[in-house]
Amino acid sequence: MYTLRYPDEKVGDPFDVLKSALGVDVPADLKRKLSFLYFAYCERKGVGCNMIAARKFRLEYGSKLRAAYKTTYTNKPLSWLRKELRSVAGNRCPSCGGARPVTLDHHLAQNPFPEFAIFPLNLVAMCGTCNQRKSATTGKAIETSFIHPYLDEVPEVPFFTATVIRDDGTYTVCFEFTPDAIPDAELSNRMSMQLKKVDFNEALLPEVGELLAEWALRIEDEIVIPNEGEIDQWVIKDYLNRNATRIEKQHRVGFWQAIMSRALADDAQFCSGGFRDLLPRSPS
Ligand SMILES: [Zn+2]
Repeated sequence: MYTLRYPDEKVGDPFDVLKSALGVDVPADLKRKLSFLYFAYCERKGVGCNMIAARKFRLEYGSKLRAAYKTTYTNKPLSWLRKELRSVAGNRCPSCGGARPVTLDHHLAQNPFPEFAIFPLNLVAMCGTCNQRKSATTGKAIETSFIHPYLDEVPEVPFFTATVIRDDGTYTVCFEFTPDAIPDAELSNRMSMQLKKVDFNEALLPEVGELLAEWALRIEDEIVIPNEGEIDQWVIKDYLNRNATRIEKQHRVGFWQAIMSRALADDAQFCSGGFRDLLPRSPS
């Protein structure tokens, strides 16, 4: 879970976006009302409490604004916006930290917040599972609000601990959120709630498996084989710690893969040969 940089300069004025979505100039009264709501959205960092438009406004514009969002689909006038917002996340879901954020999530759902259906700041790349698990009601109150990837500032500190588990001749790694690592108690509670809701351990599992296999192969090929097949536990520990530092340089301090690499470095059994359980079996 981490903060994304909103591509302000690429997205531009939200009313220009709305104009191309509607295909006509934005009516003056709609613009006036939305200006007020967009301002409130930024002020409240996208928390939905006390920010709902009047019923009359919703009846008049709700379905139009929801329909306008559909212009972000492939081959529609605003498909560039979807592409832009997805590229900001790269190949990482800002919610669970796993790969493939292929969907665009309405931070405040279109129902009950049609006023933000096509507000770019409300649109965030997310993986399909996180998107599904984030129910439409999320966001009405601060305690139940998912972290806003553009507006909330998640500190770049390690807020997970990793446990290496050896079971049935193989390895896996489980993560636990460490609430005390986040000084802001409210932010920490929200992160804890969100990580439970999206089941981040489950989300990371396929990648954890892939990385374990990759790192085991690297240890064998780059360290053990050049050392004439001799396993030196301390060299492997050092390799995994350096691997963690490299990951942090590439991603950020506290990124789960770095925490995983350090946990493996601290696992004497893994470093003294246990990693070989993860090597592909040679054909017999
Ligand atoms: Zn996710």
